[in-house]
Amino acid sequence: MKIIRTTSAMADWSRCLHREGVTIGFVPTMGALHEGHRALIRAARLACDAVVVSIFVNPTQFGPSEDLTKYPRQLRLDQALCRREGVDVIFAPTVETMYPAGAQTVVTVPRIACRWEGHARPHHFQGVATVVTKLLSLVQPDKTWFGQKDYQQAALVQQLVKDLNLPGHPIVHPTVRESDGLALSSRNIYLSRSERQAAPVLYRALQAGAGAIRAGERNGPRIQRHMARVAAAEPLASVDYLAVCDPTTLDPLSTLHRRAVLLGALRIGKVRLLDNLLISVRRTT
Ligand code: AMP
Repeated sequence: MKIIRTTSAMADWSRCLHREGVTIGFVPTMGALHEGHRALIRAARLACDAVVVSIFVNPTQFGPSEDLTKYPRQLRLDQALCRREGVDVIFAPTVETMYPAGAQTVVTVPRIACRWEGHARPHHFQGVATVVTKLLSLVQPDKTWFGQKDYQQAALVQQLVKDLNLPGHPIVHPTVRESDGLALSSRNIYLSRSERQAAPVLYRALQAGAGAIRAGERNGPRIQRHMARVAAAEPLASVDYLAVCDPTTLDPLSTLHRRAVLLGALRIGKVRLLDNLLISVRRTT
């Protein structure tokens, strides 16, 4: 397994492999790898000849009061996991090689980025769109894996790749969860014991929304209220949003027709938890 630190070495490596007809699968991450990341790596390993995992805590997607300096960094452990999973390259660039002095270009995906996470974290998606554009240009993957856990991010990347004709054909992998439903996340380690016990409330709230839909409810605001009631019962949780949305535009739905995504974000202690459920709406006759 190779560790590449510079953008030029990454681009050279990909160019050589493509010349030999090798297909490249790519999993972009910020490191502190867990079973969710492992699932994406395994899917890439199965589908492509070579696998690249990037580990880069991208400063431009963190707001000034966010946890950039505290974000968990554990390259040694991440290397061991990647080696076990048969990863060919870890691309772990320095901030200086990704953003050399004088860099000024940014990428925005205005419609998808404006709501939900974009509202809570104003420059977050511009940072994500810019770094993903750079990573895809450097790695030149045939396929790229993203997690459904970050639903809005995956939707934004799909739009970005389509709009800018970028390489990398994004594939969205289902969310990997703990046995009590909590979506795995590198930030879960910051939950205290009592907060960890409270954390599955987000998944339960989304499940309550899904249950209401299964029972025939088609009114968006009423489904939203079902979810809010469940979340309100947990005193440690403060809801940022619980929403019933169109799966492509992420606009809120007043009435459900075919498909919907239930999006949720809440704060427990210092940790912001995100989750979602994608729902196929059966016709009621
Ligand atoms: P991160 O390192 O948190 O930026 O995540 C890197 C990639 O892993 C993103 O595409 C995430 O959506 C994905 N990911 C993170 N957690 C999970 C999870 N629990 N299940 C599936 N994918 C995940």
